[in-house]
Amino acid sequence: MTMVYLDYAATCPPSPAVLSEFKRLSEVSFGNASSKHAVGRDASRLLEKARLGILSSFGLNPSSYQCVFLSGATESNNLAIKGVSFSYKNRGKKIITTAVEHPSVKNAFEQLKNEFGFQLIVLPVNEAGSVEPSSLEAVMDNEVILVSIMAVNNETGALNDIGALADIVHRYPKAFFHCDVTQGIGKVKVPYSKIDLFSFSAHKVGGLKGNGALVMKKTIRLVSLLSGGDQELGLRGGTVDVAGAYCMHLALKESMEKFAEHKEHASMLKEHLLQGLSKIDEVVVNSPLDGSPYVVNFSLRKHKASVIVEGLSEAGFYVSSISACNSKGEPISYVLLAMNRSKEDASNSIRVSPGPEATIEDIDAFLAAMNKLLLEVRPR
Ligand code: PMP
Repeated sequence: MTMVYLDYAATCPPSPAVLSEFKRLSEVSFGNASSKHAVGRDASRLLEKARLGILSSFGLNPSSYQCVFLSGATESNNLAIKGVSFSYKNRGKKIITTAVEHPSVKNAFEQLKNEFGFQLIVLPVNEAGSVEPSSLEAVMDNEVILVSIMAVNNETGALNDIGALADIVHRYPKAFFHCDVTQGIGKVKVPYSKIDLFSFSAHKVGGLKGNGALVMKKTIRLVSLLSGGDQELGLRGGTVDVAGAYCMHLALKESMEKFAEHKEHASMLKEHLLQGLSKIDEVVVNSPLDGSPYVVNFSLRKHKASVIVEGLSEAGFYVSSISACNSKGEPISYVLLAMNRSKEDASNSIRVSPGPEATIEDIDAFLAAMNKLLLEVRPR
């Protein structure tokens, strides 16, 4: 049967080289990085090499930045957002995010507001899904301690001008700028050195699920969310997954090395897919043309997207009907609603996110399979 996996924004298969290295390291460097004997020291050396490697992939100097190994972007976003808010609560109570963040950012902010009394400001986005820097400028003042704005939206691929947004925040010395770069690493240019703290997961770039990190300026003090040993600068107690962390470094390095080649390929596929979609009259594209080349989101005007996605899956084409992280909660995309789309469009979106091995033929086959389903399946 055909199997065309076009859901890299949800997760991607581990890089074969990374996977075989994971197996090897799990066997030869299995030590607890906190153990004081030679086996532990070997694991600890590997961990520090991974830390430096990750900072180097982002072009950051280890004398000013540090990397904390965590279980993924969800944990990293939570640690950054709650860690900063709790640590600097005496400086001010205002915290700012946007209407289109991943639930691990959105819900962390809502918890800070609802359970801890912080004053939350949620920035709107324009119809292309991006934050207008002027809307941030309008709400900044000396009471703000944290601003968190994502680099690339996971549902639509909309980009934010992280450099301009960070510059605005840094005019206010009490405020920190956090960025969820999960959908951006190895894929789009991000001015990492302008961000105070940023979060990502390994599995979006060929690393393993269950690994992620928070990269932050060394001068920032965070309240830890997990009480335990003093691993990971005291911010994340628990025995560290050394092999996983090292493999995240390798996967990130690989994705940065292939940045230009992969981006060109993704842009070519996006253009081809958009061309095919433009021939289907019930399709309305939600992704901005100048967004990430790795994500194409569109709504169906006549059919139920979830039914079509299920039919596509049965035919061997794997795409998302809504951000995978939202599928159990809200059936409607709050991201598309924030972009001023109708309720119908926001409940009937499909996200296609091909990987580097996808071909033009795969995109054509996907379009053919979808066109066939649109003819066969009863409209909603
Ligand atoms: N942020 C964004 C933008 C994401 O796309 C995801 C993954 N869907 C996450 C955070 C959370 O990553 P993880 O599930 O690996 O914790």
